[in-house]
Amino acid sequence: MLFDVHAHYDDGRFDEDRDIILSSMPENNVGHIINIGYNLKSSMDSIALAEKYPFMYAAVGFHPSDAHLMTDEDFDRIKEMAKHPKVVAIGEIGLDYYYGKETEEIQREAFARQIALAKEVNLPFQVHNRDSTRDCVEILKGSDMGERRGMMHCFSESKETAKKILDLGMKISIGGVLTFKNNVKTVEVVKYVPLSDLMIETDCPYLAPVPYRGKRNSSLYIHAVAEKIAELKGMDVDEVIAVTEKNAKDFFEID
Ligand SMILES: [Zn+2]
Repeated sequence: MLFDVHAHYDDGRFDEDRDIILSSMPENNVGHIINIGYNLKSSMDSIALAEKYPFMYAAVGFHPSDAHLMTDEDFDRIKEMAKHPKVVAIGEIGLDYYYGKETEEIQREAFARQIALAKEVNLPFQVHNRDSTRDCVEILKGSDMGERRGMMHCFSESKETAKKILDLGMKISIGGVLTFKNNVKTVEVVKYVPLSDLMIETDCPYLAPVPYRGKRNSSLYIHAVAEKIAELKGMDVDEVIAVTEKNAKDFFEID
């Protein structure tokens, strides 16, 4: 079944039909969803969703755009939350210089601090990176990531950056941008990266894949990402779904 490793169902855009849409996942071949925190509240909301739906899991952490809001007390709360049995990752953490020019320094500190936290609590981490690849790779290289390591969410960088990420022992997650017209870069990345290092995601409600582009995204559309990967790799879509599911289960240690 399809495994969506990165979703935001706590988002207000799901307020009207959250339960209806999530309850329909199993019958639509979506087997697992990880809901990702971006600050204290959304980390708590992610855990609440994971407690409510057996097929949902949570990641907890501070997104780079919220990094300047993270107090020491918040950090300790995140550490506590990481012990919850359905928390399977620290995230999303990383750098975003597109939105956060004035908080770059704070972002780098919060990123490094949360990578260290992931190692301490023995969880993998999910990385957000926008317009900050050089610093992002540098921080990852300079960090003791521990055994579990991390994955790049919604990867949209070059093949060369993908190689650097794989060399660090990390994984790459592909989202709906792969299906966007003229996206040569991500097409090259998918052809280059072995299927054993790939996972798939929606980042919903954002970034709906073609032919749903512009609509509110949900895990019900993630099959379009699997289909595009299958097309690019000349594989059967069922194989792509099965392998990416196994990759995610192994990486996040979910049975
Ligand atoms: Zn996200």
